[in-house]
Amino acid sequence: QADERESMFLVSEFAKDFFQRMLHKTDAGKAIGLSYFKERGFSSETIQKFDLGFSPETWDAFSSEALKKGYKLDYLEKTGLTIVKGEKQFDRFRGRVIFPIQSMSGRTLGFGGRILTNDKKAAKYLNSPESDIYHKSKVLYGIYHAKQSIAKEDTCFLVEGYTDVIQLHQSGIENVVASSGTALTPDQIRLIRRLTQNITILFDGDPAGLRASLRGLDLILEQGMNVKVCTFPEGEDPDSFARKNTQEDISAYINEQAKDVIRFKASLLVEEAKNDPIKKAEAIRDMVGSIAKVPDHIQQEIYLQECAKIMDISEEVLYSSLAQLTAKNQ
Ligand code: ATP
Ligand code: MN
Ligand code: MN
Ligand code: MN
Repeated sequence: QADERESMFLVSEFAKDFFQRMLHKTDAGKAIGLSYFKERGFSSETIQKFDLGFSPETWDAFSSEALKKGYKLDYLEKTGLTIVKGEKQFDRFRGRVIFPIQSMSGRTLGFGGRILTNDKKAAKYLNSPESDIYHKSKVLYGIYHAKQSIAKEDTCFLVEGYTDVIQLHQSGIENVVASSGTALTPDQIRLIRRLTQNITILFDGDPAGLRASLRGLDLILEQGMNVKVCTFPEGEDPDSFARKNTQEDISAYINEQAKDVIRFKASLLVEEAKNDPIKKAEAIRDMVGSIAKVPDHIQQEIYLQECAKIMDISEEVLYSSLAQLTAKNQ
């Protein structure tokens, strides 16, 4: 079993090098892949730092070269890099730019691949499947490059996508990781908690994503972490915002916009409920549920007071509702 994982790591390392070689050393890679990254504003240094790559449009360029080099089909398949259909084998990643996903210690675990167009019909990103070396619920994109800065700054920015991590890095903000499209998991939060207690979530400026992302917040509160939330102007994400602004402007924007998570959620829910009493009651129960997750009682007290103000309801009602909920959960 341990040997098997080791073999899968070797395959992943080979694949990472292969995709890099395709990007930098082939005509297609240079014409299509490199120019794509350059168009997104990534410097050569950035492209190197994140080991970005390119997978050719052909059916099996990667698989056939890996087999020729002696890598076993079994491991190519287990990492998901090769798809086997009867007698035929073909590459999972074809005609995409490649983002290798690394562990905390820098080992290559899997890959994300992006199509080169903005064709809405094709899946924009394709990722390695779950495997014995790639558990997507336990991985944060960028953690290897961010860990030192997270510890030093004693705070971590959490973004949605690969390109947000990369663009912020290039702007000089290095304490940033991405959950890569999945809802945040307890394991991912624990990974950050080893380095800092402070998280600021940078949400894309699209309302759909915002609502869904609220689910992850209770998990972070539960772990006793200090959480802030910062949203971007409609249609912007950290990547696009960072391209248009200097490091100073980005930091200033985040400092100004970042709201404590309880305040943020309470305001959002109140606004959604408007004057509907049933919705408002629901919103209040939702907030009390979140506050109940906070392990520190002093913190809870402060949150209750804040929440009462924002939601325009008496503190007493919130207290008794919290007491009820706590009793029920015991
Ligand atoms: P880009 O700027 O390249 O268009 P993005 O990172 O802004 O991409 P979002 O649409 O904001 O992309 O999605 C955030 C993250 O969710 C992506 O970085 C990717 O990890 C994941 N994701 C997005 N679309 C898909 C998809 N179709 N399949 C799997 N994962 C996806
Ligand atoms: Mn988004
Ligand atoms: Mn985005
Ligand atoms: Mn984007």
